[in-house]
Amino acid sequence: MLSELQIQRYARQVLLHDVGERGQEALGAVRVELAVGGEIARAAAAYLRAGGTEVNVAEGSPGPWAGTPPLLGSAPSRLVAVTAAPDVPAGEGIAVGQRPGAHVLWSLGRDGCPACIRTASRELRPPAARSVSAVQVGALLALLVQRRALGVAPPMEGVEVSDTGVLSTLAAPACTHQPPVVPPGLLAQLLRHLAAALPDEGCAVLVGSDDAVRLVPMVNAQDAHHARDPAAFPRKARTAFSLDPHAWLALLRSTEAAGERVLAIAHSHPDGGDHLSAEDRRWAAPDGQTLLPGVAHLVVAFRAGQPASARWSLWTDGDVVDWDCPLPGKS
Ligand SMILES: [Zn+2]
Ligand SMILES: [Zn+2]
Repeated sequence: MLSELQIQRYARQVLLHDVGERGQEALGAVRVELAVGGEIARAAAAYLRAGGTEVNVAEGSPGPWAGTPPLLGSAPSRLVAVTAAPDVPAGEGIAVGQRPGAHVLWSLGRDGCPACIRTASRELRPPAARSVSAVQVGALLALLVQRRALGVAPPMEGVEVSDTGVLSTLAAPACTHQPPVVPPGLLAQLLRHLAAALPDEGCAVLVGSDDAVRLVPMVNAQDAHHARDPAAFPRKARTAFSLDPHAWLALLRSTEAAGERVLAIAHSHPDGGDHLSAEDRRWAAPDGQTLLPGVAHLVVAFRAGQPASARWSLWTDGDVVDWDCPLPGKS
């Protein structure tokens, strides 16, 4: 609920059809961390604070709006991070950068793809500390934040401002970073297979096409490797997994012959988290580049013998992007 003072102050915005009282509360529920400086940051902070959004500026003077009291009674809970490209926000946020002749802003929502914004921002340099279009860039930055806050922005959107002030919207790249879509029944089958391997790590492969996935249960060959060559394979199946090379090769041949492809390699962490371990990363990408481009990894974390959470990881541009994988019966 807005106080009387707030209603007075933001009445113009509240009356705007697209904002309203709900919208004004949404603007006040966002906190912006600005990791860019200069004129762009000052302009963005002024617009955002005038609109009722709290802004923290990383460097320099925050400008005349620093003393603006918070809009809402409760502290803003939703963080929108603004980074200087090629850095990108870890979650919801906006990357600001420049290329010759123009500034570029990429905005990513919670439902956007972190790999896509990284790819799009890779070619950019940090924004110019001084430029003729800085105020325009800052105002646009504020607008992109407000669109996120109000829930009217698509998962990813981009804007370019030329040094002569020409504005153009940029088409978001077509995302190719999605994990495979696994039907709940198949996921349940995978969980049973992994649970049967406890207390060892279990493993399996998902093959098929994007719309027809099937599960190939695999045996964890780590104990056999360890018995044969403990120096090269110091870990046992309790804390590591490896695919049997013969079974793996046979699988690769049969999927290719059937016109299918390997979509993902799944394994479990019997008592750990659902992120790829350092060991998993070394195995998947010994030199930082994946051995299996386009193949996702699914780690299922068990706790007390029960699947607790799961996460998709996918190598892209030399690093991992990951997504939560909702488990059946959990939200
Ligand atoms: Zn993507
Ligand atoms: Zn692992």
